[in-house]
Amino acid sequence: MTKNKLGLNTICTHTGEVKDEQFKGAVSPIYLSTSYEFLDVDVKRYPRYFNTPNQEYLAQKIAALEHTESAMIFGSGMAAISTMFLAFLRQGDHLVVQNTLYGGTLNFIKEEFPKYGIEYTFTNGYQVEDFKAAIQPNTKLIHIETPSNPLMTITDIKAIAKLGKSKGILTSIDNTFASPVNQNPIDLGIDMVMHSATKYFGGHSDILAGAVASSNEHMERIWNVGKNLGGSLSDMTVWMLERSMKTLGLRVKAQTKNAMKLAKWLEKHPKVLKVYYPGLKSHPDYKLAKSQMKGFGAMLSFELIDGIDSQQFQKELKLIKSSMSLAGVESTVLSPHLTSHALLTQDERDAIGLSNQLIRFSVGIEDVKDLKRDIEQAINSTKH
Ligand code: PLP
Repeated sequence: MTKNKLGLNTICTHTGEVKDEQFKGAVSPIYLSTSYEFLDVDVKRYPRYFNTPNQEYLAQKIAALEHTESAMIFGSGMAAISTMFLAFLRQGDHLVVQNTLYGGTLNFIKEEFPKYGIEYTFTNGYQVEDFKAAIQPNTKLIHIETPSNPLMTITDIKAIAKLGKSKGILTSIDNTFASPVNQNPIDLGIDMVMHSATKYFGGHSDILAGAVASSNEHMERIWNVGKNLGGSLSDMTVWMLERSMKTLGLRVKAQTKNAMKLAKWLEKHPKVLKVYYPGLKSHPDYKLAKSQMKGFGAMLSFELIDGIDSQQFQKELKLIKSSMSLAGVESTVLSPHLTSHALLTQDERDAIGLSNQLIRFSVGIEDVKDLKRDIEQAINSTKH
């Protein structure tokens, strides 16, 4: 970091605040106007143009966190990713996309791309060779997700960026799981970063939002499509997101620390068959994760031994909630085979090593001793 660059927590706290010039209040005022002056102004503001004061300023915080020139905030992660894809892909173009991908993104590609005449290939694996093999003469974008859901595989970000550059193909990443606290893909050469801001950015399981960050040039193309699709976020929620993001660094660091402790503990637990966490030396991609992540993140998965009913186990938990959500300050668990991967057949799940005994664990900020105690009592209360 250069001498004059602000630190992570300072960016989270201060960058992108709207100064209250009128009353000198300590926090950003909310500008709810949907109508602004158009005569003698530099910027014609309108919420769907992503340029109200609150939208414009919060975007600066996201750009600063992702080390980009600019950013845009959307009404959801799906609004962010769909707008980004449609800004760079048109009829006859081709997308190479990682096979282990958030289900909503996968559905968007499969259901919407044929309507636009956009071609796509899902990779066979997550190694660079798998991406290389999927490239076609008309490939315009490579999209990756790392760590991936739910087995936390790690894709080599630098190698993918290099591959894209060598072929003149743009690259994008879903950085939701790591968050900019743990991973800065732009520094590794990726062109565009997107987030479901519903997750760590919001952090309290009460905001639906999305974000894309990139260079001014790429963001201008995204803006041009974004204003037509209309997926902007209301200023009330933008304001809430700004407030939430002040603690992003603190929250994610605490969650990441907890996840490491719990992963190590679970790995030694006699009732746990396997733990998937990139911070464990036993993880096949540990070295790669160490080389490209600042922290290993707060998402992990573990497989209970056969004979322990994974659904009953979740019902027995008293502190940790079974919930579809992730990345909140509260710890949550879910069964991927009943949720994100429910549409896959048993054979397809077996092929990627996704057991029905697998529990995905979004680690919160609670005291580790209480989380351990909760898991222990839930295992003991589950018949086996
Ligand atoms: N990307 C990832 C990794 C996600 O987990 C999600 C949602 O769960 C999304 C994108 C979509 O975000 P949203 O639900 O905010 O539209």
